[in-house]
Amino acid sequence: MNPEFTYQRDRMVRLVEARGVRDARVLEAMRAIPRHQFVPEHMRAQAYSDHALPIGSNQTISQPYVVARMTELLKVEAGHSVLEVGTGSGYQTAILSKLSKRVFSLERISDLAHQAIDRMRQLGLENVKIQTFDGTVGWSDMAPFDRILVTAGAPKAPQPLIEQLRVGGLLLIPEGGRQEQRLVVYRKLRHGVRRSVGEPVMFVPLVGRHGWEKEQ
Ligand code: SAM
Repeated sequence: MNPEFTYQRDRMVRLVEARGVRDARVLEAMRAIPRHQFVPEHMRAQAYSDHALPIGSNQTISQPYVVARMTELLKVEAGHSVLEVGTGSGYQTAILSKLSKRVFSLERISDLAHQAIDRMRQLGLENVKIQTFDGTVGWSDMAPFDRILVTAGAPKAPQPLIEQLRVGGLLLIPEGGRQEQRLVVYRKLRHGVRRSVGEPVMFVPLVGRHGWEKEQ
């Protein structure tokens, strides 16, 4: 456990719990990962407040509550292989790495991907593989995945991601317009999918072949 900011991190986890996240494994992972190492140095003091923060390249690290809620909804198990689309700072990636067997994460902006790779190395998280690529086409060489998490807002779930999901697997994606989306969970069935729509969220856009065409 990283001793720096321990008090602030505990307080953040209690806040997330008070907002309704009850999965003990998720809360434990959030207690273990030093979020201040995922934000720019001058913002470290704000790392444990319940806000999204800028991480450069016009992108954000997601709000702790949203990270916790999405991770809880994804129901990740220790043996799972997980695909994440939108590495960003790598904070959510690190949480997933604590909960699963393998994490494959795709980020379209190479600066962010490289910084996230460095952070995984510094934290000794060896079950993570990060690449710079358009995540809307997925990572077919590593498929099928037990879980897929998209951490950017999309007009609809990219078809390649549904195809790369194992039968019985879950895909969680913020779906909707550019300003506001809803957390949508897809369960892959033997024939088709079951779709459930959850709470409203605000994410930066998923830009790519099966997402939005442009950032704005
Ligand atoms: N979960 C991240 C964290 O903890 O820092 C925050 C993710 S941020 C809200 C969304 C990320 O998705 C951005 O870094 C953005 O560059 C990335 N993104 C957008 N479209 C993408 C695509 N087609 N493929 C891969 N990454 C994409």
